[in-house]
Amino acid sequence: RQALRSAYAEFRATSADQRAAILVYFGLDRIDSVNATFGVETGDAYLFAWAQRSKALVKGSGRLYHLMGSQFAILFTDLTDDAELPGRARQMANRLLHEASKAFSIGDQLFDVSLSAGVILAPLDGTEFDELMAKGYATRAAAKRRGTNKVSLFSDEAINVGSQLDFVSELSEAAGRDQLRLHYQPIVNLATGKIMAAEALVRWQHPQRGLLMPDSFISLAEDTGLISGLGAWCLGEVCREFKRWQDAGAGPARVAVNVSPRQLSEYGFVDVVDRAIRQGEIDPTTLEIEITENVMVSHPQASARILRHLKSRGLRIVVDDFGAGYSSLVYLHQFPVDKIKIDRTYIARMLASRKDRAIISATVRLAHELGLEVVAEGVESVKQIAELRALGCDIMQGYLFSHPLPGGEFSDWIRSPEQSRSLAGLSG
Ligand code: C2E
Ligand code: MG
Ligand code: MG
Repeated sequence: RQALRSAYAEFRATSADQRAAILVYFGLDRIDSVNATFGVETGDAYLFAWAQRSKALVKGSGRLYHLMGSQFAILFTDLTDDAELPGRARQMANRLLHEASKAFSIGDQLFDVSLSAGVILAPLDGTEFDELMAKGYATRAAAKRRGTNKVSLFSDEAINVGSQLDFVSELSEAAGRDQLRLHYQPIVNLATGKIMAAEALVRWQHPQRGLLMPDSFISLAEDTGLISGLGAWCLGEVCREFKRWQDAGAGPARVAVNVSPRQLSEYGFVDVVDRAIRQGEIDPTTLEIEITENVMVSHPQASARILRHLKSRGLRIVVDDFGAGYSSLVYLHQFPVDKIKIDRTYIARMLASRKDRAIISATVRLAHELGLEVVAEGVESVKQIAELRALGCDIMQGYLFSHPLPGGEFSDWIRSPEQSRSLAGLSG
């Protein structure tokens, strides 16, 4: 990105009027599944092979830049700024996409390539580098929504992109404008009849759209880099709230916070956690970090290092949505994991499907043999409780116990006699 910024700055400094540049913002759509299926080394080889080919394709007319992960940009400069430019840009980008998306092989494996691209024209669509990149990102996202191997020009998508850019800028201000909220859901142990922990789940109180669930903004926050600010806010707030509960003598023993892959690998993440713990004045052993399997699959070495840092401070590491992705049991051994949460899709199907029951049963046994705690997510019925306990799983979370609640309501609920009566009844 830095190299692209410099190249663009040079274009602006040296080019006369009537000169234009085209920025093609590319994304490879399926890198996660390549990584997960064939391993990260093949994933890297795939990105590299694709980049080599694309570099050769544009040689002499443009330059290829690697932005991050599976996102690339090609900058063409020294074009004539005339009325034909958008048409020419579209043709060029389509031809490029056609060539760049041809299948290729690594070893004896043939790979399909699926891409989407957003095309931005300078100065027509903007002149500032950051603005062009933001538009490139959003235009590519709009193209991707239309299917695979699609190219869009910014002008095709201006309305969608405009509203997405507004959404991104609103999201960047959400924390500062006091629009983020955390809700808490209990995790209960039916063997002891106790509430073991609370999981913090973020919501965005949007002034026009109402209360937004994380699924509608977390991945956008990840893609745009806003996740680091949002995540830091969540960590800080979780520690503050937990301290309030402790001071009032009314909280669970631990609190869990979700951390997404990009956030974990962000430079300085460990410092962010340290600061939240210090400022919140909480005991680090009461804090749990929930990560998904993707984290372990996509950046095994870096993530293992970061997790070990956290672990050395006393935090507990939880693998969320276990079984939902391409979990490899190897990772459970290599990573400093304390606890796994079986993905709620298995729990949802367990009463109807023997296979799902068998998977849950094997996972519970494996976890216990490795000395890990195991939690069933998404428990909604008393029948599921009985079945889970029969399979050896006593720790659960789900709507049956409580929906996620705002902090104040959660601590009232935890102290209420109805809550302890109902938990005692279910523990039976
Ligand atoms: P998750 O960490 O697996 O969280 C559990 C999700 O399941 C929550 O959805 C919760 O409300 C829902 N759930 C709980 N019990 C039940 C049940 O009995 N049945 C069903 N159908 N669902 C249940 P929510 O709050 O919408 O969060 C979705 C996801 O967003 C979370 O999945 C987590 O991956 C992510 N997320 C939430 N908060 C944060 C955050 O602060 N930071 C990051 N990076 N991600 C977050
Ligand atoms: Mg979670
Ligand atoms: Mg989960």
